[in-house]
Amino acid sequence: MKPQAPIHSAMQLLRQKYRKRLFDVAKDMGMSAANLSNIESGRQKPPSDFIERAALAMPLKVGDKRSLKEALARAQVRFSLADMAPDKRERVAVLFSKIQSASEKGLSRFEEMLADYDINSLDLSLSNIGSHRHPLAAPMSFREINKEAEKVRERLSCPATDRINIVDLLEFDLDKVLPGATFSIREKEEMEGVSAAAVPCLQHIFLREDIYNRAAAGARGSAFIIAHELGHLLLHDAISTIPAENADNYQRYYDPEWQATKFAQCLLVPASGLSLHDDQVSVMRRYRVSEDVARFQLKDCRSRQLIS
Ligand SMILES: [Zn+2]
Repeated sequence: MKPQAPIHSAMQLLRQKYRKRLFDVAKDMGMSAANLSNIESGRQKPPSDFIERAALAMPLKVGDKRSLKEALARAQVRFSLADMAPDKRERVAVLFSKIQSASEKGLSRFEEMLADYDINSLDLSLSNIGSHRHPLAAPMSFREINKEAEKVRERLSCPATDRINIVDLLEFDLDKVLPGATFSIREKEEMEGVSAAAVPCLQHIFLREDIYNRAAAGARGSAFIIAHELGHLLLHDAISTIPAENADNYQRYYDPEWQATKFAQCLLVPASGLSLHDDQVSVMRRYRVSEDVARFQLKDCRSRQLIS
């Protein structure tokens, strides 16, 4: 399953907590059930007093309001997209592992590869990718990304202290993680310098053959690339682009590359599997990750007090 829409997840938790049906909550919020459902799923823009209305329907505590506010903020990027005129609306449908390195030739090769798929109905535009456009995702915190990664482990029934074999996941368990998702392996020449690419709207990962082979042979860096692409598939069904010169206005939490990299880190080394006694070496050994991944994950989890 794709991650649920942020407002839907937050509202569902609150409804369960206060044992109120969507029907009753909608009524108290002064809207129809379909109206509320559309807002929750991201198909309709929430009114500016959404939280105040929700507080009329449920006895929301400070923490409840905070999580609702966060969910609204995460959903906001999608809404600002929906408001744009269709010709102005641009989407990055393909996320390369190194987006800036894709050459013009690489992009046209990719268009050819995608021609094998029935993509006429999809909003594909490869021309949006490149150094002049900057991709933007709905913002996610490290904590939220870690939660998504831990959910994947739950679906795989893989304990937090166990190593995940990413190639096995890809080959045997992809359906458990994202039903319907597929992957293909492409020759080096065909990928034109791009090591891997994820196409969220196709739920497909393209892997360059040498990367796949190396990952299958146990190479840590190549396994990380696959985990990164999996992050794109799971997190990035809604992506926009902005002119590169405006990129500085957005924090890294909006950056799909940052998100996918942190997802990969958290999938391979889950925060809940770490203890206060762990160091870089113990993490590298237990999870078979590179020195960098072990170091960054320990640093990220320690600074957010995620290790107990
Ligand atoms: Zn990427």
